[in-house]
Amino acid sequence: MYGYTYHKNYNKYDLGLDHPWIGDRAKKTMDYLEQKNLLEKFEIFTPKKATEKDLLRVHDKDYVELIKKLSKTGGKLAEDTPAPKGIFDIASLAAGGSILSAEKLFEEFTTVCNPLGGFHHASRDKSSGFCFFNDIAVTIEYLREKYKLKKFMIVDLDVHHGNGTQDIYIEDPSVVNLSFHQDGRTLYPGTGRLENIGKKQGKGYTINLPLPPGTATGSYLIAFNQIIPPIIKQFKPDIIIYESGVDTYHSDPLADLELTYQAYYYLSQKMQELSKETCDKLLVLFGGGYNSQSIIICYYNVICGLLNNPNFIKEKDSMSHFKVQTVMDRVLSLKEILKEYWDFE
Ligand SMILES: [Zn+2]
Repeated sequence: MYGYTYHKNYNKYDLGLDHPWIGDRAKKTMDYLEQKNLLEKFEIFTPKKATEKDLLRVHDKDYVELIKKLSKTGGKLAEDTPAPKGIFDIASLAAGGSILSAEKLFEEFTTVCNPLGGFHHASRDKSSGFCFFNDIAVTIEYLREKYKLKKFMIVDLDVHHGNGTQDIYIEDPSVVNLSFHQDGRTLYPGTGRLENIGKKQGKGYTINLPLPPGTATGSYLIAFNQIIPPIIKQFKPDIIIYESGVDTYHSDPLADLELTYQAYYYLSQKMQELSKETCDKLLVLFGGGYNSQSIIICYYNVICGLLNNPNFIKEKDSMSHFKVQTVMDRVLSLKEILKEYWDFE
């Protein structure tokens, strides 16, 4: 069974008119799914705010207090991240949405989406990149405490590297944090190099594939198939957290990958398949995406992939294998770097 978490206040996660983060994205996606008669496939859940106890499993007390303070007056968390009045409540609601979605995976649901989730730039004590609380980590720590889970798999396909999540789990072998992103030499936040594979006992559990600008759908899918299925199958996670950011889209204003609509269908279909083959618990967090028109179609295609619904939207793709040689070189390097931790066919 499929679930979808939504709150009418999700649109209050709005960082201003001239800011790339689009406040009404969750509502627009919801309306579009309804129009396409897909919403009826989902049970809809209404989240509550994550509690302070939930946030403090991940974030430092001082950091949580700072967000609270900014939230009272309005201000700035970072150069790119304004903190509007009330943001503490809304960011807590977003994190609460991810927690609730994950909890439903321990009832009869196998796939649950939180459209306002995947804030991967927030680390324990600082953040930028439009993020306040790292709902991925807040959810993992909630599940660890409540259900005593031991193995968490993060597949982060947002175009930006999830530096906050990486900082939090860099030494933790219970969390595989696997990220495909545009090469940090060409995009915010600049991190996520191939050689960063974790530290101490967490070595081999942080996995980064930085992709060159221009990487197109076909090249991306080849890389996905070479790296992601073998790791998930060997790790045998208790839950898979899929950050399905769509800022990899070719006309996204913030980044330079070249994925087409159909990519999102194939990726989420594949993620669903991998979940079915392992834990059958897939938490889908929508992450970033900054082209106000196309993100709705991209998320629609993510949903179609999860449901195996062939009515997804395609577009002409003449450069599908653009950058394939560079991508393959990096895939081979990554396999070489990871060979003492993971087997690849
Ligand atoms: Zn992003």
